[in-house]
Amino acid sequence: MSLIRKLLKPFMIVLPHIFRESETIAYPTERPMFPERFRGRHKFYFDRCISCNTCARVCPCNSIILVDVEDREGKYPQIDYQTCSLCGYCVEFCPKNALEFTDFVEFAEYNRSDLVYSPERLTTVPDLKEVLPMLKRRTEVYHTETAMKYRKVKDV
Ligand code: SF4
Ligand code: SF4
Repeated sequence: MSLIRKLLKPFMIVLPHIFRESETIAYPTERPMFPERFRGRHKFYFDRCISCNTCARVCPCNSIILVDVEDREGKYPQIDYQTCSLCGYCVEFCPKNALEFTDFVEFAEYNRSDLVYSPERLTTVPDLKEVLPMLKRRTEVYHTETAMKYRKVKDV
């Protein structure tokens, strides 16, 4: 192989990639739109819950206990995200659909104790713009036969 060919070879390998679509997203200015059945943080609905304890009994990680809530009768689920694996059993087995998954994943904390969510805290899911003020675009994920790709769908 001539010296010039040897020198050009790396550029010829890299060149086609310059014109391909990006295979990554620029989080947190971009954020994927997760599928409908995505399992992010839970949302809890007081008005649907009958304090039956099913969610706590089926939880394989012992992440749910039912606790008292001020000014309410009965006990309601408290979820510990230190151990929750987001398996979905509590959502699936709840007879009243009082627990749902959201697409909210930005709930990392500095203190472990902050990962224990009271029933009241579980009722609200923060607005994305508050948590990610730099967010500009949502991107849709799609698959080709060989790769996962991202496509910009809307500005926020
Ligand atoms: S998602 Fe699974 S691990 Fe998490 S609280 Fe529900 S049942 Fe437990
Ligand atoms: S959240 Fe659902 S499963 Fe859990 S106590 Fe309430 S009604 Fe029962």
